[in-house]
Amino acid sequence: MYDIIIIGAGPAGLTAALYALRANKKVLVIEAKSYGGQIIKANKVENYPGIDTISGVDFATNLFKQVEAQGLEIKYETVERVTSDKEVITGNGSYKAKAVIIATGVENRKLNLPKESTFVGKGVSYCATCDGNFFKGKIVAVNGGGNTAIEDALYLADICKKVYLIHRRDEFRAEAKYLKELKNKNNVEIILNATITNLNGDDHLESITVSRENKEENIKVDGLFIAVGQEPKNEIFANVCDVNEYGYIITHDEVYTKTLGIYAAGDTRVKVLRQLTTAVSDGSLAATIAIKEMREK
Ligand code: NAP
Repeated sequence: MYDIIIIGAGPAGLTAALYALRANKKVLVIEAKSYGGQIIKANKVENYPGIDTISGVDFATNLFKQVEAQGLEIKYETVERVTSDKEVITGNGSYKAKAVIIATGVENRKLNLPKESTFVGKGVSYCATCDGNFFKGKIVAVNGGGNTAIEDALYLADICKKVYLIHRRDEFRAEAKYLKELKNKNNVEIILNATITNLNGDDHLESITVSRENKEENIKVDGLFIAVGQEPKNEIFANVCDVNEYGYIITHDEVYTKTLGIYAAGDTRVKVLRQLTTAVSDGSLAATIAIKEMREK
């Protein structure tokens, strides 16, 4: 029996683990993929108070090591179900705790194009920091208009021969600072009011079909970086949590779900701002509340 099981080893989950371990609790973190969450995709983090600049990978690695030093127990398994009496069932077994913190974050939104999943690792990527180097000297496209897309385009412009930035509107969500930087890159071509309608190639991506003003054109690219936002995957928690129309977990007083002893932290819950700062805030709060409620039982 664990005191707290934390599902997800991104910044929210690892921060919850840090707080719980430092309070001498028996903690298990269960992670489906690898630690770090979405932040590992950030080329540079410059808005975390007290740190001038750090890469997302370094931030995640530092945090992981910090939690490891406190005695972290982590299992790389996929959670399939959580019961209201705090049993967490994975593909490999089941684990019981007094409290569960769901910190599963979000997943990359897909374009849902035919061949999109087939071409992952064969030209299609959702992480420029992870895969950009495979496209050294090549031609790539980035799809999206938020901070991630612009940062990806900036990062890739320093590696690739040419970068197309394709966005479905003529206004960006990204911060002006990044856009200004992008406009100074002479190997970036911005294509606005455009959507990608097809991915072409046999066993790897060779070109993309772009639709603009009712006309379609094929653009030859070696790689496509899809940066069209994220979405939660909370279907498996439907028995213990309510979700909103977009699938985010509805919480009250920040981290409480509708089930006693089950909390949600980080990007996976309904919130105004999804940032590193708010993820770690949620993680610390969820662990602290879980511990307090355990004590008061
Ligand atoms: P985002 O801000 O939600 O932007 C997603 C972009 O993808 C939008 O431009 C959206 O277009 C477009 N899009 C959505 N669905 C699409 C579809 N089906 N087809 C084509 N385009 C589609 O996501 P994000 O850029 O990943 O950023 C997520 C959060 O992390 C934001 O709060 C962001 O500020 C933050 N972030 C911060 C930093 C930083 O501070 N350094 C870095 C990265 C991310 P529309 O604009 O038309 O809706």
